[in-house]
Amino acid sequence: MPEQMETTGEVETFAFQAEIAQLMSLIINTFYSNKEIFLRELISNSSDALDKIRYESLTDPTKLDSGKDLSIKIIPNKEEGTLTLIDTGIGMTKADLVNNLGTIAKSGTKAFMEALQAGADISMIGQFGVGFYSAYLIADKVTVTSKHNDDEQYIWESAAGGSFTVRTDNSEPLGRGTKIVLHIKEDQTEYLEESKIKEIVKKHSQFIGYPIKLVVQKEREKELSEDEAEEEKPAEEKKAEEDAEPKIEDVGEDEEEDKEKKVEKKKKTIKEKYTEDEELNKTKPIWTRNPDDITHDEYGEFYKSLTNDWEDHLAVKHFSVEGQLEFRALLYVPRRMPFDLFENKKRKNNIKLYVRRVFIMDNCEELIPEYLNFMKGVVDSEDLPLNISREMLQQNKILKVIRKNLVKKCLELFEELSEDKENYKKFYEQFSKNLKLGIHEDSTNRNKLADMLRYHTSSSGEESCALKEYVGRMKENQKHIYYITGESKDQVANSSFVERVKKRGFEVVYMTEPIDEYVVQQLKEFDGKQLVSVTKEGLELPEDEEEKKKMEEDKVKFEELCKTMKTILDNKVEKVVVSNRLVDSPCCIVTSQYGWTANMERIMKAQALRDTSTMGYMSAKKHLEINPDHPVIETLRQKADADKNDKSVKDLVVLLFETSLLSSGFSLEEPQVHAARIYRMVKLGLGIDDDEPIAEEPKVADEAPAVEADGEDASRMEEVD
Ligand code: ADP
Ligand code: MG
Repeated sequence: MPEQMETTGEVETFAFQAEIAQLMSLIINTFYSNKEIFLRELISNSSDALDKIRYESLTDPTKLDSGKDLSIKIIPNKEEGTLTLIDTGIGMTKADLVNNLGTIAKSGTKAFMEALQAGADISMIGQFGVGFYSAYLIADKVTVTSKHNDDEQYIWESAAGGSFTVRTDNSEPLGRGTKIVLHIKEDQTEYLEESKIKEIVKKHSQFIGYPIKLVVQKEREKELSEDEAEEEKPAEEKKAEEDAEPKIEDVGEDEEEDKEKKVEKKKKTIKEKYTEDEELNKTKPIWTRNPDDITHDEYGEFYKSLTNDWEDHLAVKHFSVEGQLEFRALLYVPRRMPFDLFENKKRKNNIKLYVRRVFIMDNCEELIPEYLNFMKGVVDSEDLPLNISREMLQQNKILKVIRKNLVKKCLELFEELSEDKENYKKFYEQFSKNLKLGIHEDSTNRNKLADMLRYHTSSSGEESCALKEYVGRMKENQKHIYYITGESKDQVANSSFVERVKKRGFEVVYMTEPIDEYVVQQLKEFDGKQLVSVTKEGLELPEDEEEKKKMEEDKVKFEELCKTMKTILDNKVEKVVVSNRLVDSPCCIVTSQYGWTANMERIMKAQALRDTSTMGYMSAKKHLEINPDHPVIETLRQKADADKNDKSVKDLVVLLFETSLLSSGFSLEEPQVHAARIYRMVKLGLGIDDDEPIAEEPKVADEAPAVEADGEDASRMEEVD
C-alpha cells in the first residue's frame, strides 16, 4: 500500500471559475434546512454518467470491457465520517474533471444565484446545471476519483475556498466510473444513518433506471470452531488463560472429560459484523404499469426524478400505442419554462428514449418537433433495435410514427388543459410562444394550435379570449377577423387604426408579442374567416349605401390634394389615399398587403447586426391615408386648391407625414430633422425670430443641415399661421 501512495503523481492546483467560487460559498454559508437534495443531485449525475456509457456501448460493446455492471453504490462510514457514492458510469478524464467540476463557467451558475436572490430555493439547483456543488451543503471536503476509458484514474479534491486539486491516482483501481467521497460536516452526520439515506432515496430517486445499492451493516450469530474461538479471543484474555491454566501433561485418564470440553467449545458463538448490498429502488419502471394503479404523487415523483424539477408537473398523459407498432409513453407539461429554453438550442432531458426498458438516449431530436421541446417524458419502444445510433434514428420510419403520435397526444393534452381555465392560464403564460412557433412550423396541426391561442381584444376586457369566442361575437355583416399587431396592449388599443373599426362596433384582436407577426404570416384565416390587419392598405369595413356614397364623394373631393401630397412626399410613400378608418386623427400610415407592418419593421430593426440589405426591399411599403372629415385635412385642401405651389403646404405635409409615421408605430429615419421642424414651430408659437442667434450652443443649428440649407424656411412657416 505505501508504495502505491508514493507513485501518486504530482498535485496540480486550480482556481475555481469566479462565479462558481461565489456559488460554492453561497451554498456553504446560506442557512438552509432542506440539505438532503444533495443526494438526489449526485445520484442524478451518476445516472447521467451511466446513461452515457450505456449509449456508447450500444454501438461499441467493447466500451464495457472495463466493467459490465451498471449501478450506483452508496457507502456510509460512521467511523470515518464519510459518505461514498460509486457509479460505474462513463467516468471523467482529467480534462473533464478540471472543466466540468470547476473551471468552465455555465450560464446556469449566474442564473441560479440571481434566482436565489429573487427568492428561489436551493433545491432548484439541478435545473440550473450546477447540481454537483450541492455536495457542499453537507460536506466540507469532497474527493472525486474518476476513471474514464480513455484516460488514467484521477483524483479531484476540494474543501472549497476557491480552489481544487487534481492528481493521478494509482491506488485502488475503479475499473471505470466515479467515486465521490463526501467528508460530512460535523453537524450533518444524520446523513450517515441508513434509515435517513433510505428515506431520501425513496423520496427523490426511486425511479432512477439503475440499481441504487446501499451498503448496510448487518450482524449475525456465528458458531466458532475451537481454533477460531481461540483466535477470536482478545489477546489479553488469551494471555490470562495461559497464565492461569497450569500446563498438565496428557496422561490419558482424563480422556472422557476432555472430549466433553471439546463439544462445549464447538458450540461457542459470537456476533459477527458483515455488510450487504440492499437495493433501494426496486420499483418497476412507472410507464410500464397500469395508469389506474398510479397515484398523482407517484407521477409527480417520477416527473421530478426525470427532470430535476423541484415542483410537480402541470399535466401528464400516460398512454400506450398498440398494433403494427408498439410503444408506451409518459408526457409531462412542466409548470414553468426552463430558464434557458430559447437560449440553448441543444437542450437535453426532454423526452428520454427507451427500447424495451433499456435507456437509449435523451435529447433525441427526431422524437418531438422543436416547438414542443418544453415537454418532458419517456418513450419506450418495443420495435426499435437496441443498438440504434443517432445517425440511424434520423431516417427511421418507426420513429416518424412515434413522433406523429407524440405530437397528437401533446395537443390532446393541451386541449384537456384548456378545459380548466386557471390551469390553462398558467400553461399559456409559460408556453404560448411555443404554440405560436408551432403555428409557424407545423402546418398539419395549424388549425388545432390556432384554437389554443388566446388574445386580448377591443371587447374582451381584462381576460383574453380564444379566436373561437371572437368568431362567436362577430356581427352579421362582418366577414373578417380584424387584428392589429404592436408593442403593447395599451399602445394598440389607443392607436388611430383601431378608432373607426371599434366605433363601427367591430372587435379588434390585439397581437402584442413579436412572434405574433410570424403567426399571422402563416395563419391566414381562422374558421373560414380571413384575418385582416387594420394597419394594412385596403381595409374594407362593411358599409351601408350612404357611407359608400360619401366615400365616393370624398375620393373625388380630395383627389387633387392626394396628388399634391404624393408629389411632395415623393418616394417616401407608395401612395396617398382617402381613409375610411380614421375618426380623430388627420392621417395615418398603413402598409401594403404583403410588406412588413410597422411592428414587424420595429422587430427587424431591433435584431441588431442583421443584414441591413434585406431592410431595403422588405421594409414596410407605406401608404398615407388622410381623414376627409378632419378639419386639418379640409383646411389643407383649401390652401392647396388656392395655390398649388404654396410652400407652407409643402412643409405642413411633411410634418403631417412624419408625425403620423410616429403615431403609426414607425421610427423616423432622421429624427433630428423632424425635431428641428418642430422646434421651429415652437419658436413661431413663442414669436421668436428664427434668425436670432443661439448664445450658448451655436452647434445645434449646424446639426440640422437639411433644414438650414433651405433659407426660406422661416418665412414659409410664418405664412402658415
Ligand atoms: P449537470 O449534471 O446539470 O451537468 P452538475 O453540476 O450536476 O451539472 O454536474 C456537472 C458535470 O460534471 C456533469 O455535466 C458531468 O459532466 C460531470 N459529472 C458530475 N458527476 C459525474 C459522475 N458521477 N460521472 C461522470 N461525470 C460527472
Ligand atoms: Mg447534475
